[in-house]
Amino acid sequence: MTKPTTTNTGTAVSSDDESLTAGIQGPILLHDHYLIEKLAQFNRERVPERIVHAKGAGAYGELVVTGDVSRYTSAKLFQPGARTESLVRFSTVAGEQGSPDTWRDPRGFAVKFYTEDGNYDLVGNNTPIFFIKDPIKFPDFIRSQKRLPGNGLRDHNMQWDFWTLRPETAHQVTWLMGDRGIPKTYRHMNGYGSHTYQWINAAGERFWVKYHFKTDQGVDFLTQAEADRLAGTDPDYHRQDLWDAIERGEYPSWTLHVQVMPVAEAEGYRFNPFDLTKVWSHKDYPLIEVGKWTLNRNPRNYFVDIEQAAFEPSNVVPGIAFSPDKMLLGRVFSYADAHRYRIGTNYAQLPPNQPRAAEVNSYSKEGAMRYFFNDADVPVYAPNSYGGPHADPALAPDPGAWEFDPTMLRAGYIQHAEDGDFTQAGTLVREVLNDEQRDRLVDNIVGHVLAGVREPVLSRVFEYWKNVDADLGKRVEEGVRAGLNGNGAS
Ligand code: NDP
Repeated sequence: MTKPTTTNTGTAVSSDDESLTAGIQGPILLHDHYLIEKLAQFNRERVPERIVHAKGAGAYGELVVTGDVSRYTSAKLFQPGARTESLVRFSTVAGEQGSPDTWRDPRGFAVKFYTEDGNYDLVGNNTPIFFIKDPIKFPDFIRSQKRLPGNGLRDHNMQWDFWTLRPETAHQVTWLMGDRGIPKTYRHMNGYGSHTYQWINAAGERFWVKYHFKTDQGVDFLTQAEADRLAGTDPDYHRQDLWDAIERGEYPSWTLHVQVMPVAEAEGYRFNPFDLTKVWSHKDYPLIEVGKWTLNRNPRNYFVDIEQAAFEPSNVVPGIAFSPDKMLLGRVFSYADAHRYRIGTNYAQLPPNQPRAAEVNSYSKEGAMRYFFNDADVPVYAPNSYGGPHADPALAPDPGAWEFDPTMLRAGYIQHAEDGDFTQAGTLVREVLNDEQRDRLVDNIVGHVLAGVREPVLSRVFEYWKNVDADLGKRVEEGVRAGLNGNGAS
C-alpha cells in the first residue's frame, strides 16, 4: 500500500494538489504550513556550487593491495592484502553544474579511502601536473578560465592571456590541448595524485612519492568534433556512462602505482621534484604496483553522496605526510575552508564524509546542522579529569619532515638542472606524441585560439608554442593566420 505523504515532521498532509485559500478565489493563507514548508525547502535545495569542479559524477568502490610497498610506508591501507572502502568524485574544472561533460578541461579525480586510521583523501586530476606551482596564483588562474564580469561570458582571450603571461602553464596546456584533454569517459582516463607526498615506513625512513591510477579500461579520448556534438546532444555523457557501467555490473578499475624517490635523491634530481608543473620521468623512477582500485557501487542519492562529498588533502593517516610542494601546502588549507563555506562547519558528519572504519573522538561541538554529539558526561574541554579523549602522539600521523632555510621570503622554486617552463612540454610533443596526435594538437590549439584570441595576446600565443617546440609553434601560427584570413584551420 502507498504510504501517506507527511510533512517533514511526520504529520499526514491533506493535499499536494491545492493550496489552502480563503474562498475559491481568495488569497493563499500563510498558515498553510505544508505549502510554506514545501516552497521554503525548495528554495533551499541548492548548496553553493563548488567554485571549481562544480560538475561531476562519482561512485563507491574499494582498494585491494596486491603489491608490497611496506618498505616505503607504514600506512595501513597500503599494507599487503589490505582492503579499504573508497569513494571517488570525477569532475570537470571550470564549467558550472549544468555544463557539458565533454568540454575540454582537466578532470578532477578525488579519492577518499575510509581507513581504520581515519579518512585518507587524494585530491588528484587526470593529469600528473598542474597549470601553476604556487597557490597565490590560483584564484587568478581560475578567474581567467571562468567568466567575464560584464557579460558573464567565457572568453578564450582571457584564458590565453593568463596562460601566456604564466609560462609555467605550458606543460599542462600542452596536455590539455592534446587528446587527453577530452577523455572518452571517466572510465577511460588515468588518475594522478599529481602532488608529491611523503611516505614514512615503520622504521621512520622517509620517501617522496607520486600516485598513478592507470585505467584498466585503456586510455581513450574524444576528438573535438565528437565532444562538440555530445556537448549539445548529451551534456551528461560522462556521468551517464559511469552510472550505466556500474549498473550493468561492468565495474571500472584502475591499477594503483607509485613512484618512490628516496629523500636523499631529491636535491640532485634533474627536475625539482616538488614542482607541480613537472613529472618525474618513468625512466628515472619506474612505477611500482600497489593494488587494484575498483568502483562497484553507485551512489544511492547523488546529492547526498556526491554533491555533499568533501575531499581534502589535509586528511592524512599515519605513514603519509606532506612535502614542500607549495600547491599541496596551499590546498591543505583551502579545501577544508571551502567545505566549511559550501556545506557548513559540520561537513565531516555528512554521510560520504564520515569515517567508516575509524571512530571519532573529537572535542568539536555544536555549530549549524550538528547531529552527532558526545554523551553528556564527556567533557567539552581538554585536558580534563573526567575521562575525555586525550591526544596520543604515538597514534597520530607523523607531521613529516624536510630540511629548509628558515629565512622568510617570497621566492620561486629552487631551479634544478633541467627545470624550465617549456622543457617537459617539449618532451611531450617531440618524444611522446606520434604524428597523428601532434596533428590533432595543432588543430585543437588553432581552433581554440581562433575562438576569440586577439592582439596583444595572439603574438604571445605564437611565442609560447614556439618555446614549447619550434615546429609546433610555426604550425600553430600558420593555422591561426590562415583561419583569421578566412582560409580555414591548419
Ligand atoms: P615516458 O616515455 O616513460 O612516459 C611518457 C608517458 O606519457 C606515458 O607513460 C603516458 O603516461 C603519457 N602519455 C602517453 N600519451 C600521452 C598523451 N597523448 N598525452 C599526454 N600524456 C601521454 O617518459 P617520461 O616519464 O620521461 O615522460 C616524458 C613526458 O611524458 C613528460 O614530459 C610528460 O609530458 C609525459 N608524461 C609523463 C608522466 C610521468 O609521470 N613520468 C605521466 C604522463 C605523461 P601514463 O603512463 O601515465 O599514461
